[in-house]
Amino acid sequence: MSAEGREAELAAALAAVRARVVAATRAAGRDDEVELVVVTKFFPASDVRLLAGLGVGAVGENRHQEAAAKAAETADLGLRWHFIGGLQSNKAAAVAAYADVVESLDRPKLLAPLARGRAERDVAGPLDCLVQVSLDPPGAEHRAGCPPEQVAELCDAVAGTDGLRLAGLMAVAPLGEDPAAAFARLADQAARVRAEHPGATVLSAGMSGDLEEAVAAGATHVRVGSAVLGARPRVQ
Ligand SMILES: *Cc1c(COP(=O)(O)O)cnc(C)c1O
Repeated sequence: MSAEGREAELAAALAAVRARVVAATRAAGRDDEVELVVVTKFFPASDVRLLAGLGVGAVGENRHQEAAAKAAETADLGLRWHFIGGLQSNKAAAVAAYADVVESLDRPKLLAPLARGRAERDVAGPLDCLVQVSLDPPGAEHRAGCPPEQVAELCDAVAGTDGLRLAGLMAVAPLGEDPAAAFARLADQAARVRAEHPGATVLSAGMSGDLEEAVAAGATHVRVGSAVLGARPRVQ
């Protein structure tokens, strides 16, 4: 496909997603603005560039090497890079070298390397971090995220780490459950965290298939990939 053809395709998909977000925000009776993070994993830096030209300011990636390469290739665009994938502690400092937001902080072991990576970088201020909460029912096979009963402690630890800022929470709705019910648990958790940490206002939830439910539950950020960029290859 030509660059013009791809740009037109992305523009149309992006407009449709933005319209969904606005409609969901209105339907929820909210008058704030929900931010869109476009998840560009598996798609080339050329798409990131086109998206920036279409007004996208924040992009999400879930794999370190792919993210680092794309962030370097598009460094001139001034995008905000959200790291949303599983984080290995031996990669955390490297992720902090380009990420503006780390959404997938799920255990205390990541704090020191993230802070170190941020300190080595030539930018002012702390790294915005979201604690990723597991919404899986107790006893479910382990998926990513901090168990709910450990969230308060992890949030305190982030807030107490120089170079990191506790910006809020992130979650992915579990498979096989109504996302509205899962996001309701997340909203409860977020309210408890905000009572202790008033600055932790970000709630990142909702993807292509469930952004309406997330916005209804108070998401401030939605992370949308396939509805903007098209289907990804099956192998993840
Ligand atoms: C891939 C991914 C998304 C986007 O998913 P889509 O269904 O393509 O919108 C959002 N959040 C996380 C954590 C992801 O890994």
